[in-house]
Formats: sequence, C-alpha cells, structure tokens
Amino acid sequence: MSVPFLMFATLFATDMADAARVKTIAVDGDAVVLSFDEAVDKASTFALDGPQRLAVDIPGAEPGNVSVSGGPIAQVRQGRQNDAARVVLDLSTPTLISDARFGEDGRTLTLSLKSVEQDEFRRAARAGRSSWGAEGTQLAMNTPPKKRYSVTIPLDPPKRLSLPRIQGPDNRPLVVIDAGHGGHDPGAISPHSGAREKDATLAIARAIRDELVSSGRVRVALTREDDRFIVLNQRYELARRLGADLFISIHADSAGNEQANGATVYTLSEVASDREAARLAARENKADILNGVNLGGATSDVSSILIDLTQRETMNISSKFASLLKREAAPLVPFRTDYHRFASLIVLKAPDVPSVLFETGYISNEADTKFLFSADGRKRIATGAARAIETHFARQLASR
Ligand code: ZN
Repeated sequence: MSVPFLMFATLFATDMADAARVKTIAVDGDAVVLSFDEAVDKASTFALDGPQRLAVDIPGAEPGNVSVSGGPIAQVRQGRQNDAARVVLDLSTPTLISDARFGEDGRTLTLSLKSVEQDEFRRAARAGRSSWGAEGTQLAMNTPPKKRYSVTIPLDPPKRLSLPRIQGPDNRPLVVIDAGHGGHDPGAISPHSGAREKDATLAIARAIRDELVSSGRVRVALTREDDRFIVLNQRYELARRLGADLFISIHADSAGNEQANGATVYTLSEVASDREAARLAARENKADILNGVNLGGATSDVSSILIDLTQRETMNISSKFASLLKREAAPLVPFRTDYHRFASLIVLKAPDVPSVLFETGYISNEADTKFLFSADGRKRIATGAARAIETHFARQLASR
C-alpha cells in the first residue's frame, strides 16, 4: 500500500521543485497576459456565475501574489488547486475567454477576452472547461452536443426565489421596487433607438433605491438587481415574504400612438379604466407566457381572485399613493393628464401589500426615451418617487 503513496509523494515533490511561478499579470486592452518565471505548456479555463468570474488553471504552476484590475476585470485572485495555480478574474461585466495562446518560450499566456450578453455568459458557465495547449490550439471544449431544439429558459423555475437584500436602517417601513421585465423578456423596445424597457426599468429602480438609501428614512429592496427574468407572481411574492409595506413596479411601455408621452400610475382593478389600460394589462400579463408555456403557473387562479376586504383596503391605500406619487413627482417628471388608471395587472395582485405600477414614460415616444435613458431623467424620477414614498410612510405613521 505504501508504493502508490510514495509515487504520489515523489510526483508531488518534483512538481513543487521546478514549478513555474506566476510572475506578472497585466490587462492589455482586450487581453490578459500572465507571465511565468519558467515555461508552462497547458492551461484550462472556465466561467463561473453568481458572481461572474473566469478561472484559469495552469497545471504544474505555482500561484504568485500579484493582482491587477482594468477593463472588465474588477480584481484578480490567485490560489492553488490540486497541482495547478488557479488565477481567478473577478468580472465587472460579462466577459468570456475567446482564445488562449502561449508565448514561444512558454513563459507567457495571453487570454483574449470578449464581452458577451448575460445569456451567453450563463451558457458558457454551464458548458464547463476549455483546455488550451502550447501549440496555440484549443485542445477540447466540453460543450454539450448541439440540440436541434434548445430551451434556454427553465420551464419549471424554482418556486421560492432567494430573498433580495434589504438596505436601510432597522425598524423602518419597507418599500420593494420592482424593475419590470428582464432576462429573455426585454419589455417594450424603442422604435427610434432600439433601447429596451428592461434596461430603463432596472436603471430607474436602482436610482430610486440609491435616493432612498442616501436619505436613510426607509428600508428598500429590489426584486432584481441585474438582468434576470422573474415571473409576475413571484415579484409580488418576494415583496410579501419580505413583509413589504409598499410595492412599486417600474415600467416604460410603448403606446400605439407615438405622440403619447408622460408618466402614468396604475393601480389594481378587475375592471380596466379604459381600452389602453386593458391593452396594457393584456400585454404585461403575457410576460409569463413563453411559447405557450405559462411560467407563472397560477395566472388563471390569480385572475379570478375575489376582491376581499383586505384587498379593498389595500387598493384604497394604493390609490392614495398613486395621487401622492403624482403630486411629488410632477414638478420633476412629465405626467399624463389622466395620470391615474386602473387595470387588472397580475404584478399588482398581492392582496395585502399596497401596490402601484409606475409607467415612468413611453419608450415609443422619442422625448420620453431620451428622458428615461438620461442620468438627469433618472435622477428626477428617483427624487420624485423617493419624496412620495417617504411622505406616504410619514402619513401612515402619523395616522397610527
Ligand atoms: Zn412594461
């Protein structure tokens, strides 16, 4: 029994003795260059999600202690993994290694980077490891065989999402801000610039959160902090599970008429206030339907919810908040004349959390799109929304 152990020990010792050590790491435009004090001839790389990282294993090499940042690289960490040096590149934006080449003397390894969409990064993270040899060719790539029909969205999403983080001082009321759409659902798309609603909603939700966090009067959580898809009933379920006191879903939809502009606040009603409100509800509620598969699951039950007393009280508070939002934000943000509308929107159906859907503007309108995608516009929306939220909670506290 001692023989295999000895062999192992010998191999291990030998590896240690003449191991190439990672000497420098440099970010050079779209490339990361690793240099070693001895020659190396193979490496393997893989992507990791949540948070997004790239890992590089160099068998037979020793980790060094240099770090660097630049481009998409937030920082570099090094460690040992079995007999390899592992270099981990923490990413600030989704990025993959498209090529890896060794220098002629084997003392450098140049990783070519390419920035990719979130979806492509996730696919690469699932695909596994790529191996690279000194000949400059990719040895093998563990990608699964291509399927004729591929489904990239889990049709059975986990029933319970992990709860988002809450920011702000303890014992303060909690508002949950929901950035509409996300992931495979881009929402409305600007006919002028191609800008996507899901990007506007996320940026605006973050801006409102930052505004609230900086004044420190309430607690705040976002249903999503990145580009991901969440089914509609899970959005308000997150708010309920967090014990939220107020829920605001941020949108920027398109209107049939490109001249239509300005903000609108929607609250829940089984009866839509007009045809446009009914169309909006039909379109928004469809976000859960993909290729005929209902990702939300409970939609048919939810649409026939009887409005009980709790929900009626919730709807009254929601309506009051809609007026307040208009009052506080209108000096900063253009609103429609008939700014308060009613629709049967699934995302507003939490029976016990006052909820509004804030249409911050129309992405189909050129001026609105410019406003929504500008730092100034977002700041104005965030300031107005934060004032309304803080006033709402102050009033509730006073009435108790
Ligand atoms: Zn929308």
